[in-house]
Amino acid sequence: MALLQLSEPGDSPAPHEQRLAVGIDLGTTNSLVATVRHALPECLPNAEGDVILPSVVRFLRDGNTIVGREALAVQAQDPRNTIASVKRLMGRGLQDVDAPMRGRYDLLDAGGGMVRINTVAGPRSPVEVSAEILRRLRERAEASLGDNLVGAVITVPAYFDDAQRQATKDAARLAGLNVLRLLNEPTAAAIAYGLDEAAEGIYAVYDLGGGTFDFSVLRLARGVFEVMATSGDSALGGDDFDDALADWLHRKASGVDLDCSRSRALLAEARRVKEALSSAPVVTARVPLAADGVREVEVHAQDFVTLTQALVDRSLSPVKKALRDAGLGVDDIQAVVMVGGATRMPHVRSAVAKLFGRQPHTDIDPDKVVAIGAAIQANVLAGNRRPGEDWLLLDVIPLSLGLEMMGGLTEKIIPRNSTIPIAKAQDFTTYKDGQSAMAIHVVQGERELVQDCRSLARFELRGIPPMPAGGARIRVTFQVDADGLLSVTAREQTTGVESHVTVKPSYGLSDDEVAQMLKSGFEHAEDDMQARALREQQVEARRLIEATRQALTEDASLLSASEHATLLTEIEHLEALSTTPDHLAIKAGIDALSAATGDFAARRMDKAIREALTGARVDNL
Ligand code: ADP
Ligand code: MG
Repeated sequence: MALLQLSEPGDSPAPHEQRLAVGIDLGTTNSLVATVRHALPECLPNAEGDVILPSVVRFLRDGNTIVGREALAVQAQDPRNTIASVKRLMGRGLQDVDAPMRGRYDLLDAGGGMVRINTVAGPRSPVEVSAEILRRLRERAEASLGDNLVGAVITVPAYFDDAQRQATKDAARLAGLNVLRLLNEPTAAAIAYGLDEAAEGIYAVYDLGGGTFDFSVLRLARGVFEVMATSGDSALGGDDFDDALADWLHRKASGVDLDCSRSRALLAEARRVKEALSSAPVVTARVPLAADGVREVEVHAQDFVTLTQALVDRSLSPVKKALRDAGLGVDDIQAVVMVGGATRMPHVRSAVAKLFGRQPHTDIDPDKVVAIGAAIQANVLAGNRRPGEDWLLLDVIPLSLGLEMMGGLTEKIIPRNSTIPIAKAQDFTTYKDGQSAMAIHVVQGERELVQDCRSLARFELRGIPPMPAGGARIRVTFQVDADGLLSVTAREQTTGVESHVTVKPSYGLSDDEVAQMLKSGFEHAEDDMQARALREQQVEARRLIEATRQALTEDASLLSASEHATLLTEIEHLEALSTTPDHLAIKAGIDALSAATGDFAARRMDKAIREALTGARVDNL
């Protein structure tokens, strides 16, 4: 979703000063940092040229830490102090931690729903461990971007709850990062593929990582992704394929006695072979032997497929379940996005393609796609313009622009996500006979009631010539120029009287405010429709009461005393109804009063015609 960036023209960064922001995929197995440079997203490498940072932190006695590949390499030697998969502990109390994690580390109950991990350097919270990973990524970003870093978008699984999200934010702050926003991983992947600019509809994201499988169904509506359903398996990932292959290799090279660290070495070899098999038909595995020897075993892709097809199939049941829960069939899915390093395996891709009956998106590296989507979002949030849009501070309208109508209702003139520059006009009319001025209240937001939107400006159109209610034609034009300046003009069409206001967007809605307002717009759609129907009937009731009263004062002579009394009773009845919240009852009251005044209106019409024929003016008809 592109977002409004409102700022004084003087505040915009000079062309050379791009505000740099990064996207971070803080993964269970691997983490990455990416940015958008020269309009292209790219993952940033470390000094050795690696873009993937294994999410592994080793604590040393002196309090220093080793993070990434080096830590992964010594995991076998120092398992208790080398923390992997810390993401599984984020925002979790001891009772929520799964058995494998409990077995692997010395966990303490830190109270307040937190665990701590006992290390040689003392107890460390998962937030601190994650901060070590994030700090390395921040340093990497600063090394290639300089210290212009304005902030980071950090991704989290769609199913993360508040505590897990808060823990992630805390880790980022601890690492010295300014969090622009947390973004759901599947949404980031969809953004990387530009699906936020694609057709509205339902998208599926299949994410098979190192140790977790996440499936999400997203709905794109009005430029915003909403998570419709999530499912998955927190104990299924690429590691299981390594295990299966390691077992098989072990059997093939039978008689080999594996000690613990040897089996770690075998697992590492299995992983290498698995990854190589994604692009080669045969790979030679070098199975480590107890006596420091190595036995070579040839692995054919087909062997590996046979060995692991059950794991692939296991991932399909949560997919089917999520679709079922969301009441969707595979045909309802517009596109499927593949995420996670393990989706490089061809049999994973073909199983997903078969289930959905279409080829999934795989063009972007599945282990980079989340970081790339996060970087694209970060770039927008940092307020960077797209190339060629030299003066554009905003590219689309993030929240609808409209007017306050009678009864405190909003009428949307420019819908959200319209690209600018844009101009739209709508005609309005007067509400009362002889109305000479009209108040124009410009509002922004998705809600139906003005009180729930944001007020941008008020002005008046004066000098409307006296005309009966509904007679004047007032055209209100909203125009947003390329600089994001909104001007609103109101012009009475017959006389040309005009008035206008320019809304200087000198203050902006923060990203969170925009998100909040959108969310509230979606959440209240149903209530708002009820409220709108009620307000509309109330306005109509008031208009009718006023018009009838006016007619009664002008033309009481056309009515008998009892007719007059009946109309007054109907008016009072409708007045009473219009204070109730029942829009259907008000509507019935309106219909009753209209019916009761039918004769009276006809008599007034006759009278007006008689007067016209005798030379009187009929302007007021
Ligand atoms: P996470 O989201 O859990 O941090 P990733 O998306 O980085 O994890 O996925 C890591 C997994 O992807 C590992 O199991 C790794 O072996 C696997 N993987 C990476 N490259 C390949 C490949 N070429 N073929 C098969 N699996 C791969
Ligand atoms: Mg991941």
